[in-house]
This record gives sequence, C-alpha cells and structure tokens, in this order.
Amino acid sequence: MSAKIIDGKAIAAEIREELKKEVEEMKEQHGVVPGLVTILVGQNPASVSYVTAKQKTAHELGFYSVQDDQPEDIPEDELLNLIDKYNNDPKIHGILVQLPLPKHINEKKVINAIDPDKDVDCFHPVNLGRLVIGGEETRFLPCTPAGIQELIVRSGFETSGAEVVVVGRSNIVGKPIAIMMMQKGPGANATVTVVHTRTKDLASHCKRADILIVAAGVPGLVKPEWIKPGACVIDVGVNRVGEKKSEKTGRMIPILKGDVDFDAAKEIAGAITPVPGGVGPMTITMLMKNTVRAAQYAIGK
Ligand code: NAP
Repeated sequence: MSAKIIDGKAIAAEIREELKKEVEEMKEQHGVVPGLVTILVGQNPASVSYVTAKQKTAHELGFYSVQDDQPEDIPEDELLNLIDKYNNDPKIHGILVQLPLPKHINEKKVINAIDPDKDVDCFHPVNLGRLVIGGEETRFLPCTPAGIQELIVRSGFETSGAEVVVVGRSNIVGKPIAIMMMQKGPGANATVTVVHTRTKDLASHCKRADILIVAAGVPGLVKPEWIKPGACVIDVGVNRVGEKKSEKTGRMIPILKGDVDFDAAKEIAGAITPVPGGVGPMTITMLMKNTVRAAQYAIGK
C-alpha cells in the first residue's frame, strides 16, 4: 500500500492561520505586535532568498518586521553592537542573524550576543540548555526540529513508547530532535536512538524505527528495505542533485532530493514527507511561532 504523503505546506499553512489569530488577539488585548529583525551580512543568493521568505511570512502574519542588510565586510564588533541595539529595542522580540557569516566573523560570538529571550532560532547555549531540561524550563524550540515534531503529531502518529531513530547528530537537527522526542510530555515520550557515521549497522537500527527521522545530507542514503512497514518517515535532507528549467519562469532551478529513496520508500512506509514540500515549509513557520512566543513572554503572558 502506498504511504500517506505528509504535506508540509498544508500543515505549515494551518499553523500560520493559528498564529495569525494569536497575533490579532495580542494586538487587541495588549496593543503589541510581534517584532522580528532579520540581519543579513553580505548578499549570498541562498541567504537572500531565505531572509526574503522569512520577511514575507512575518509580514503576512502582521508582525512588525525589519530587514537589516549589512555589507559583507562589516567588522565583527560593529555586528555585535548592532545586535545589542536590537537586544535593547522593545519593539523587537526576535532577532535572527542569517547564517553562514563571512569568515572574519566568529559565529559563536554572534549567537552568544543575542539576548536568549530574543533568540528565536534557538541556537543560544542558554536556550539549548533549557531545551535539555525540558518541561516549563523550555523557552523556544529550534525551528527545524519543532517543525518535524509538528509534522509527526499532526499526522496522527503516536510518539509515546514509539521507537524513534534519528539519523544524524548535528546541533541544529539531529541532537535537538532526539532530545525533544525523549522528553516527558505530549508529542514525545519516545525511545530514541541516534545514529551517525560511526554507527556499525545503520540498516538494523533504521529497521526498528516506528518513526524514522533522517537528517544526514546524503541523497538516497536510506534504502527502502531499511524501513519498517507502516513507519512514519521524516526526510529532512535537502540535497541539490542537478538543475532543471522551471516550467513557470523558464529559469534554471535546482533539482532537490532527500536522504530517503522516496519513490521506493513510499510503498513501504505508513507516511512519508516529500522533498521538497515536507520539512522545508515548516522551518520558517516555526520561526514565526517562536517570535509570537517571544512577544508573549515579553508582555508577561
Ligand atoms: P550536518 O551538520 O552535515 O550533519 C549531518 C549528520 O549526518 C552528521 O551527524 C553525520 O554524522 C550524519 N551522517 C552523514 N552521512 C552519514 C552516513 N552515511 N551515515 C550515517 N550518518 C551520516 O547536517 P545538518 O545541518 O543536520 O543537515 C542535514 C540535512 O538536512 C542536510 O541535507 C540539510 O540541507 C537538511 N536540512 C534541512 C532543513 C530544512 O528546513 N528542510 C533544515 C536544516 C537542515 P557525523 O556526525 O558522524 O559526521
């Protein structure tokens, strides 16, 4: 039987509608709108397109949004001062510095300079520490892992007691999603295994997974025979494997493939995310959710 295709675009749209209502309520009851600044250093085309998409979504949700473009050669201390300015701006609740940064700037210093209460990417060590402790201590969830969790829960998969296998241990996807799924609480309570390049028998671990989350960045890494029949498969991988002409614009666009052999896997899995159109659309939406949360915290809600 063919798997249910988990539609990230539709789920992201559903969450954005919920957020829109929260923003309207906040405006009516407290006269506050969530404020988001996106800081872009240089004009890397991929970064420009990510930042543009974030600004567009913020605007659609009724946020106060600021796009702050800085030159490629901005000195590190000037960037740190700029962050400090937004840390002290009461209209701004979320600060996003688009990564990667030019080589002369220390990314760690930049991340650590953001006020943890405005760290809507959830990259600051304080917020990652809060995430590990869990429960009420958690302030923000990192955007891609939060999107993954929403996809699983909103697709009706039971996480409590489930065997979850995470392929990859990066700080932005693998590690945080593993921690989130093992926490005590709704959408979690799973038994989690994390596998990586030093894992001895990747296939045997994947085969046990009721929920398989793959974030390796290796196209087609997960073979269909590694998937447990009926499993929920979340493919986080986004790999450029070539280019094609867009039917809409006539311009060359990248051909994207996930880390899972989608066509074969969908005949075995119970549900699966496509690439593109699965995890991708969720990430920006979860950034918006964090910004709404940051504004709610700021007004003491
Ligand atoms: P990363 O920092 O490169 O980490 C990749 C992880 O996968 C590492 O832990 C690595 O293991 C593991 N890995 C790589 N090859 C493997 C193999 N053959 N077998 C087992 N494990 C393997 O990547 P990332 O930032 O987590 O991103 C992963 C993928 O997700 C990329 O394709 C990225 O583009 C995509 N992504 C998508 C979104 C989105 O919004 N859709 C967001 C973030 C990332 P070691 O630690 O042992 O090296």
